[in-house]
Amino acid sequence: MAYVDEVYDRVVKQNPVQPEFHQAVKEVLESLRPVIERNEDHYRKEALLERLTTPDRQIMFRVSWVDDHGQVQVNNGYRVQFNDAIGPYKGGLRLHPTVNLGIIKFLGFEQIFKNSLTTLPIGGAKGGSDFDPKGKSDREVMAFCQSFMTELHKYIGADIDVPAGDIGTGGREIGYLYGQYKRLTNRYEGVLTGKGLSFGGSLARTEATGYGLLYLVEELLKDHGTHLKNKTVTVSGSGNVAIYAIEKAQQLGAKVVTCSDSTGWVYDPAGIDVALLKEVKENRRQRLTEYASQRESAEYHEGRGVWSIKTDVALPCATQNELNVEDAKQLVGNGVLAVCEGANMPTTYEATNYLKEHDILFVPGKASNAGGVAVSALEMSQNSERLSWSFAEVDTKLKDIMINIYHSIDDAAKEYGHEGDYVIGANIAGFLKVADAMEAQGIV
Ligand code: NDP
Repeated sequence: MAYVDEVYDRVVKQNPVQPEFHQAVKEVLESLRPVIERNEDHYRKEALLERLTTPDRQIMFRVSWVDDHGQVQVNNGYRVQFNDAIGPYKGGLRLHPTVNLGIIKFLGFEQIFKNSLTTLPIGGAKGGSDFDPKGKSDREVMAFCQSFMTELHKYIGADIDVPAGDIGTGGREIGYLYGQYKRLTNRYEGVLTGKGLSFGGSLARTEATGYGLLYLVEELLKDHGTHLKNKTVTVSGSGNVAIYAIEKAQQLGAKVVTCSDSTGWVYDPAGIDVALLKEVKENRRQRLTEYASQRESAEYHEGRGVWSIKTDVALPCATQNELNVEDAKQLVGNGVLAVCEGANMPTTYEATNYLKEHDILFVPGKASNAGGVAVSALEMSQNSERLSWSFAEVDTKLKDIMINIYHSIDDAAKEYGHEGDYVIGANIAGFLKVADAMEAQGIV
C-alpha cells in the first residue's frame, strides 16, 4: 500500500467521527502523492506524515459563565496546537454552535500549510467553542470570553501561540479576550491579533482576508489573460471575509450581485451596496432581510441559492462544505471562469474535483484566504517593534504576499507536472517548507 494511503487509513481509524478532519487530510495527502512518491522510503522511515497529521497538543476545557438571567451556562473550549516547526502556533478562534474537536482539527491542519505559504514564521493552530455569540448581550459575550481566557492563557503567549478571530470572533470578542489575558498575566504583549487600533491592532487587518482574496484573484485572472473589470462576481456570506471581498471586487471594477447569511441570501442585480451591508451586519448586527428591505433593487430568498446565479467568478466566503457538487454543476453550466475560496474548505471534495475536471480555475482557501493570517503576522511584527505601520504600508505588503502566493502555487504545480492544479500546487508548496523544518529539528 502506498505510504499516503497507509497514513490516511490511520488518521480515519485514530480519529473516528471527525469527517471534516478526514476530508482535509485526504485532500492534502492526495496532493502530496507526487512529492512523497519521489522519496517514499525516506518519509516512511521518518514517519513524517504520521507526525504531520497528529497535533502536537489538543487542549479541551470547560467554559462556565453566567447569563443575564443568573443562569450558569457551560460550553466546550478547544485549542489544537498542530505544528510549530516554522514558528509559534497561529490560527483563529471560532465561536459557533457547530464547533467540535473534528472541526477545530481540520482548521488547525489546514492552517499549517496556509501559514507556510505566507512565507512568514508562523506555525499552525486553531481553537474555539460551541458558544454562539448571536443574540447574546455584550455582558454575556464578555463573561464567556473572560471564562474562556481564564483557561486558555495557560497555553498561549506572544512567542508560543497567538490566536486571532474567525467565525463569531470579531473585534469585540478579541478585545474582551485580550483584557482578560492582560489581567491574568500582567503582560502587555502581542498574544492575540485582530486587536483594536487603540491597543496594538494593525491597520488593514479587518480588510485583510477579503482584500487579499481579491489581490490573488486579480493576479490569477491576469495570468490567464483577463481581469476583474466588468466581470460579474457572486459571493456567499456577509461576515468579515465576505464584506471586504465585495468591497475590493467593486474597487477593482467588478459587479458583485449576491451575499448570504445562515438563514437566506440576497440577489442584488444592481450590485451590492457595501455601505448598507456594513451598517446592517457590522453595526446593527441584523439579518440580511434588513438589507433587502432597505434596498429596492435587492431580492431576498430564504435558504441557500447563491450558486444558482450566473457569474464569472464565484467566491465562497461563509463556511465549510457550503458549495456542493450540484452547485458546482450549476456554476459550470452557467459558464463560471474561476472559483476561489474565501472561507476554509467551503467546497466539498467532490465539487472541487468536478470544477477541476471542467477546467475551472480553482484556488483553495489555504492559498486564497491567507491574507488574514499574513496581516496577523504583520501585526505581531509591529507589536514586537512597538511600532504601527500605515494602512498603505500594510496593504502593499499584503498585496505582495498574495501575488507571491499565487506564483508559488503555480510554480509548484508546474514543477510536479500538474500545471493549473492549484490544489496540488498549494499543498506541495506549503508542505515542502514545513517538512524541511521538521526534518532539520529531528524526531520531536
Ligand atoms: P463571520 O462570522 O464574520 O461571518 C461568517 C459568515 O458566514 C456569516 O455571514 C454567517 O452567517 C455565515 N455562516 C456561518 N456559518 C454558516 C453556516 N453554517 N451556514 C451558512 N452560513 C454560515 O466569519 P468570517 O467572515 O471571519 O469567516 C468566514 C470564513 O472565512 C470561515 O470559513 C473562516 O474560517 C474563514 N476565514 C476567515 C478569516 C478571517 O480573517 N476572518 C481568515 C481566513 C479564513 P450568520 O451571520 O447568519 O451566521
